[in-house]
Amino acid sequence: MATKATQAAKTAAGKAVQAAQAGASAASAAASTAKARTRTRTAAAGPTDYDAIIVGGGHNGLVAAAYLARSGARTLVLEARPKTGGAATTEAPWPDAPDFKVTRLSYVMSLLPPTIINDLQLERHGYKIFPMGPYYQAFPEGGSIKLYADDAKRNYDEVSRWSKKDAEAMPRWDAWLAGLAEVLGPLLLTVPPNLGSRKPRDLNETLRLAWRNRNLDVRTIADVTRLMTMSIADLLDDWFESPQVKGALAVNGVIGTWAGPYEPGTAYVMAHHSIGDVGDGHLGNWGFQEGGMGAVADAIARAARQNGAEIRTDAKVSQITLKDGRASGVILENGQQITAKVVVSSLHPRTAFLDHVGRQNLPDDFVRDIEHWKTRSGVVKINLALAELPDFTADPGTNLQEHHTGSVEMAPTMPYIERAFQDAREGRPAARPFSDGVIPTAFDKTLVPEGYHIMSLFTQWVPSDWSEEPHAEELQAYADRMIDCYNEVAPNFKSSILHRDVVGPYQMEHDYGLIGGNIFHGELSLEQLFHMRPAPGFADYRTPVPGLYYASSATHAGGGVCGIPGMQAAKAAIADRRSALRGPRRR
Ligand SMILES: Cc1cc2nc3c(=O)[nH]c(=O)nc-3n(C[C@H](O)[C@H](O)[C@H](O)COP(=O)(O)OP(=O)(O)OC[C@H]3O[C@@H](n4cnc5c(N)ncnc54)[C@H](O)[C@@H]3O)c2cc1C
Repeated sequence: MATKATQAAKTAAGKAVQAAQAGASAASAAASTAKARTRTRTAAAGPTDYDAIIVGGGHNGLVAAAYLARSGARTLVLEARPKTGGAATTEAPWPDAPDFKVTRLSYVMSLLPPTIINDLQLERHGYKIFPMGPYYQAFPEGGSIKLYADDAKRNYDEVSRWSKKDAEAMPRWDAWLAGLAEVLGPLLLTVPPNLGSRKPRDLNETLRLAWRNRNLDVRTIADVTRLMTMSIADLLDDWFESPQVKGALAVNGVIGTWAGPYEPGTAYVMAHHSIGDVGDGHLGNWGFQEGGMGAVADAIARAARQNGAEIRTDAKVSQITLKDGRASGVILENGQQITAKVVVSSLHPRTAFLDHVGRQNLPDDFVRDIEHWKTRSGVVKINLALAELPDFTADPGTNLQEHHTGSVEMAPTMPYIERAFQDAREGRPAARPFSDGVIPTAFDKTLVPEGYHIMSLFTQWVPSDWSEEPHAEELQAYADRMIDCYNEVAPNFKSSILHRDVVGPYQMEHDYGLIGGNIFHGELSLEQLFHMRPAPGFADYRTPVPGLYYASSATHAGGGVCGIPGMQAAKAAIADRRSALRGPRRR
């Protein structure tokens, strides 16, 4: 997630982040929490009829709730776990060290657009980002590289230590990506048109999209086509020669993906993690939320409550009910029935549609699309409590230095990353996994006692079917190997570890609802993007069931902690409600 070199398009983004910092007010956040606490209930209590029910209190469900409540709808969020946030969660996983908190699954922010930050006044509710430092890789054979998001001069110096030719290519690469980000960025906030539909409204939307992009020339369309179809390896081979530089730039192409860097489509995954502007101002640069990613969800929950939404935890939904073919509410696992004319689900598509709505209530084509939905990834998250910072042979010292403040990678070359994928594809956990590591406590002093650190390792791959069994011992052995890889370049690493927490695909599926362990509720592969996400004909945040809307990361613009699916689903529901008052409905 955190590779910085490809993000020249984001030079202005740091300013947005600083503005976010400046605006944050912990005091008002605390005040609104106290006020809002009155609207938090457990599953058993509360009224049984609302205007809108949100299934799932992950960040997207909370965003949807905030917008719906803001529109005046009596809104209820139902969350299965004891706390909201879903994959955006801060937890204390070690009972004997309750003062150490980790951002247990997702770990860095970037994609949340200013529209949502401003609409929901998230800074007032505790949204506060520390911009990250450089990308850093120390190489097992010696030496290191740092890459900066917005410092071309230092990038030139760093890269020219490995290849002068690559150092000269880097500004052109950054400009090329920035150009593509200008095209792709605004698409993230675009509701995908229903391509192929002959309904006048759908044709109109398709034409509007074409008209908005009428200025694209032959060269730009060719570049976008390359980006969408190429592997990150082939793309980088066209630009660079040094294995070290290519390794650094390849990481974003495989984050959360069941595909090695030589697989077609990984160039787009890199772009998804590198786009700097979604058309409504610049996105935040990659950064650390104070208090971990759970604090982002908490800020959104405060905004939702302040707008009037009610949030119930320990409230697992087991069914979405229908009346006369329309969504009419939900039934909880404890048997309680709650009604509403609008239901928004933010769960994995298999759970939302196949389990909660039921195949018998859905069109056959749609059922098949959801059954075929690809949802693998082989990700293992390793959270560590450290007694001291890593002391890299290439950049010695346990004192806080710049290379500790960004992403601290273990992805030295593309063949290294590819080997890790091939191991997993052949049915074995990677012998030498790759890791996108970060040390949020370089900035955030709220997570640990003074003098200690948390290091979060986002690692890949284990076999994709490890979501079916816990593989507990093998996961520990995998974590040992990952730690050994860092120990080769920072010899104090292993001995500095006080506690460790290893979360594999089985736990992601069973504890967090991430089916198959996929971090985005579904792969970001080409056949699952834009008008195909989550299924052709239903990429506009509506579903085959009138009154049921869909807000998970399995819709366009997801995944990641971006809130766009939540916002778009709420907007679709609000628009339909208004047009229902005026006349006949669309579907
Ligand atoms: C290991 C990992 C690392 C990641 N790193 C990053 C990162 O650094 N940056 C980034 O932007 N993104 C990252 N992501 C992706 C990102 O976290 C997700 O795309 C995003 O958080 C998903 O949000 P959501 O609201 O769509 O779904 P979720 O967060 O999955 O929320 C769904 C909610 O529904 C609840 N639920 C499930 N079943 C039921 C039920 N039956 N009834 C009621 N509630 C139910 C769940 O408990 C959960 O709270 C990461 C994800 C993982 C797993």
